[in-house]
Amino acid sequence: MRRVYLDNNATTPVLPEVLTAMQPYFGEHFGNASSIHHHGQETRAAVERARESLASLVGCRASEIVFTSGGTEGDNLAIFGLVNFGLSNPGQHVITSAIEHHAVLNSCKHLEAVGCEVTYVPVDGRGQVDPDDVRRALRPNTRLVTIMMANNETGVLQPVEEIGKVAADADAYFHTDAVQAAGKVVIDVRRIGCDLLSISGHKMHAPQGVGALYVKKGTGLRPMLHGGSHERSRRAGTENVPGIVALGKAAELARKAFARGDLDRMSGLRDRLEQTILGEVEATGVNGQSAPRVPNTTSVHFDGSDGEALVIALDLKGLAVSTGAACSSGAIEPSHVLTAMGLRPEQARGSLRFSLGKQSTSEDVEFALSLVPQTVARLRELSPVYNKTAVSHKLLAES
Ligand code: PLP
Repeated sequence: MRRVYLDNNATTPVLPEVLTAMQPYFGEHFGNASSIHHHGQETRAAVERARESLASLVGCRASEIVFTSGGTEGDNLAIFGLVNFGLSNPGQHVITSAIEHHAVLNSCKHLEAVGCEVTYVPVDGRGQVDPDDVRRALRPNTRLVTIMMANNETGVLQPVEEIGKVAADADAYFHTDAVQAAGKVVIDVRRIGCDLLSISGHKMHAPQGVGALYVKKGTGLRPMLHGGSHERSRRAGTENVPGIVALGKAAELARKAFARGDLDRMSGLRDRLEQTILGEVEATGVNGQSAPRVPNTTSVHFDGSDGEALVIALDLKGLAVSTGAACSSGAIEPSHVLTAMGLRPEQARGSLRFSLGKQSTSEDVEFALSLVPQTVARLRELSPVYNKTAVSHKLLAES
């Protein structure tokens, strides 16, 4: 049976070049990067080459990159690691947004539990934070602003450069979760003006379990894991050398893909998918359509449909998509991202996320298009909630 995977925001396949680059570090190059002998020096050199590659991807110095186990750890290290803040110095104020990934949202909830104050700024109907809302939320004790670069459900890009300026003017740290942006849009930490930026390997065709945190020179960061002095004492633990080598290779491939203009091809495929669905299926809409978005993602609401039922029906026919964040799939609550954008709970529950990867082809998109309209129509026919008359009235009212 043919299987097409359009759920690359959940995880991406490791690219063949990445696998080839990492494989020797499971075998002949097995040394501990902290050992002073030949085996250690070999792997140390590979880790430092990967660090250079990550630094080039985001426009910083190699010494400003800390390798982590992934996006969740990077977000936690950024939020809990700042010196004289949060866990060690409660009573301070943090600004985040209503649409963050749970790695940030639940970290902020934990800060609240230990006595910090947190403001969750809203987003508009396009899924964007207004930098003026961040400015208005500032307090004399605001120490950290943490707002994502690209949303995992909608792909909507946030105005991080403006938010960076607001944070800098207020002398607050600015962290941005760039897990869904890395490899999809050019990142320049100096232009963004952020102090901390997190990346995850498995969202950019490196394996699961590796990531990186950019930490601006001079930012005081306490390690979350206590142990050896790895990663300049910012993250203890023997380095995951194969994973780090893979992340370095994935970063190199991402830079080459930007230079070749590959991302235009990807947004072309995404747009074909999106436009055809909108044209062929009634009572649909793209969440965040008019906002700037990463080139691989489209989130579509199919009114009067149940997203979970659609995911299952499409999976039975060989198409893998998602209702939104992988970790909230299966949950009864509608997506906090889509409801924050003003979607009604039933619209949010009837939304699907299609996300392409570097391996995605136009044949994959055509395969999806051969299934989605008919599957939505069939489920709507069976659905007691899909009331054609109500939807037509709504369409008439909107036209
Ligand atoms: N941040 C965002 C925006 C994400 O989409 C994800 C994963 O879905 C994470 C953080 C967590 O990254 P990881 O899976 O590497 O822990």
